[in-house]
Amino acid sequence: MTDSFHPPQRTLMGPGPSDVNPRILEALSRPTIGHLDPAFIGMMDEVKQLLQFAFRTKNELTIPVSAPGSAGMETVFTNLIERGEKVIICQNGVFGGRMKENVERCGGVAIMVEDEWGTPVDLGKAEQALQDHKDAVALAFVHAETSTGARSDAESLCALARKYDCLAIVDAVTSLGGIQLEVDEWGVDAIYSGTQKCLSCVPGLSPVSFSPKAVEKIKSRSSKVQSWFLDTNLVMGYWGTDAKRSYHHTAPVNSLYALHESLVILQEEGLENAWQRHADNHTAFAAGVEALGLGFVVAEEYRLPQLNAVSFPDSIADGDVRAALLNDYDLEIGAGLGALAGKVWRIGLMGYASNRRNVLFCLSALGNVLNDQGLSCDPAAAVAAARAKYAALQ
Ligand SMILES: *Cc1c(COP(=O)(O)O)cnc(C)c1O
Repeated sequence: MTDSFHPPQRTLMGPGPSDVNPRILEALSRPTIGHLDPAFIGMMDEVKQLLQFAFRTKNELTIPVSAPGSAGMETVFTNLIERGEKVIICQNGVFGGRMKENVERCGGVAIMVEDEWGTPVDLGKAEQALQDHKDAVALAFVHAETSTGARSDAESLCALARKYDCLAIVDAVTSLGGIQLEVDEWGVDAIYSGTQKCLSCVPGLSPVSFSPKAVEKIKSRSSKVQSWFLDTNLVMGYWGTDAKRSYHHTAPVNSLYALHESLVILQEEGLENAWQRHADNHTAFAAGVEALGLGFVVAEEYRLPQLNAVSFPDSIADGDVRAALLNDYDLEIGAGLGALAGKVWRIGLMGYASNRRNVLFCLSALGNVLNDQGLSCDPAAAVAAARAKYAALQ
């Protein structure tokens, strides 16, 4: 006989999933109802409105895709890009590489603009590519690169896309709820996010939004969207505004309760307050990291508050430190990805996990584990540095 599975109680400070607010876990356990039940459809309408609030948009086509962030990415590219179309992709980490995969699998041509990992997307290089490829239909980039902790200037990149009559495609998986994001004001045409990062919800859903201009492009396609499941023309038969909703796929009913609850929590806090909380906890955490003698990959002005890429001396055994944190402290931090594998830790302060207790706990635990590994540092001084920052912020 196999026993029931009871996961350990961890503190999640990696690149996602982040700690889930207990209110959301409670919402998840409410009774399952039918996905066409009028009560459920009423809740779906609220989810759409709440997503419009979180994205700061009036876009009608604003829905959660029933699958994780990668499916949101796929939804955007598969609906917008047709065979032979050119897309300029600005890559400064892992996730830009996945955009390339998506464009090519749509039969499109990916024009890559590469930036060094840990730096933001270079506006000059992006503009040069737009000039060199006047026939490009879209400019795509990652707002918050979770693999490096760098923030790119989404507002300016969207303005560039508009100037060259391209659609602006934005990966906001890690930015939504954590840093400023203005879909309408910045002129974003297509955007996707995830629930398990700064929304602190369970993984498995991907909010997306398309501007009227993007919807027009989808409507005027000469070929069918190659994915039946992700075709927004069909999905909107279920998620659209028509009074009569029809079956497309069985919605993940309870996960949508969870998303609804996470967005209600975000609305209660207020977007600006949530962004400020992420900024403040990062400031305190960074002071502690520096007091431990560790460094940051990203220059201060481009650092994401919700994802700290922290570098460490070569003498440190990366895997041993993460294992000790997990085993002794039930604390999860992330490993480096791609070019930064084995060189950095990715320490998340996302959503519900972005709080003072986690900041102080992580500094203390990390400092102690580093001492065990033979790196001389002072965990108490790190905690004191962070507390001093908090005191100064008040
Ligand atoms: C996490 C992440 C994704 C992928 O999301 P999944 O939910 O893991 O599929 C895409 N882009 C960025 C920037 C991410 O951080």
